[in-house]
Amino acid sequence: MSNPPAIQINDVVKRYAGIGGEEGKLALKGVSFDVPEGGIFGLLGPNGAGKSTIINILAGLVTKTSGTAQIWGFDIDEQRRNAKRAIGIVPQEIVFDPFFTPYEVLENQAGFYGIAKSLRRSEALLKAVHLADKRDAYARTLSGGMKRRLLIAKAMVHSPPILVLDEPTAGVDVELRRLLWELVQQLNADGVTVVLTTHYLEEAEQLCDRVAIINHGELIANKPTREMVDMAREKIVAVTVGSDLASPPSHDAFVKTELVGERGVEVTYNKDSLTAGQVLAILQEKGLIVEDVTTREADLEDVFVSLTSRTEQENA
Ligand code: ADP
Ligand code: MG
Repeated sequence: MSNPPAIQINDVVKRYAGIGGEEGKLALKGVSFDVPEGGIFGLLGPNGAGKSTIINILAGLVTKTSGTAQIWGFDIDEQRRNAKRAIGIVPQEIVFDPFFTPYEVLENQAGFYGIAKSLRRSEALLKAVHLADKRDAYARTLSGGMKRRLLIAKAMVHSPPILVLDEPTAGVDVELRRLLWELVQQLNADGVTVVLTTHYLEEAEQLCDRVAIINHGELIANKPTREMVDMAREKIVAVTVGSDLASPPSHDAFVKTELVGERGVEVTYNKDSLTAGQVLAILQEKGLIVEDVTTREADLEDVFVSLTSRTEQENA
């Protein structure tokens, strides 16, 4: 038997208040999706798509205009306390009182949730995010990366089954990105359902088992990452041929052919109509001697670009 979804979002609309007589921004146009329990779910979309609006509605920081949402089966309006206890949220913006130490930040948060002193996990959490040695440093002396890790620990103080991270790696260096990925994977391995928003597609492809794509306040795709990547119809065969070419060998069945240097040819083809073997056979029929072959699969980036540009056209 499969478990009920960790998060359910049903037809959620958000219109921000307008300024003066102006109509406010319609940030979410009736968004519905479920986050299955136990995985790492990626919410992708360009800047301004509505990702933070969704996260902030779940966090109780933004009031939705209409629609419903459940967290761990608890309605966010009717069962606010239970819904809040089931989720830990790492916001996009880093905000801290600069005069508290990491240890105090976690202890204050535990107090806020009414967690008895004997049940608190501040030391263990600091250790988990590699901040044990910063236990008593002032928050203002921490680097940006340390603050981000402290925010993750803070979100986990009440041991929620769901952790949501809004753009956890925006503007962080490669090293910290790796560390944050490991942290997220470790928490997930420990049973925490993770939701993260990102506009780095490589991050989603590596980390998430399922991704949803939002654009202009509308959900335009929601699939296992593998299937999403497979939606890319085009593939590329790159070959090195035995003699110099004056022009790229064209064929009706190819989408595109390009010369790369004097002896390199890249053929883009639609995988629904051809195989790599057939591409090579066509090239050989044209008299080319193929000396070396590599193929390139399209990635999530290609799918994302094609999906979001389609809605760009519809919105134009
Ligand atoms: P994302 O996180 O995907 O970048 P947001 O959810 O932050 O997108 O924003 C979605 C849209 O709503 C954007 O057009 C943004 O300008 C607008 N928006 C966000 N917050 C507010 C607000 N407090 N008041 C008015 N408009 C807002
Ligand atoms: Mg955002």
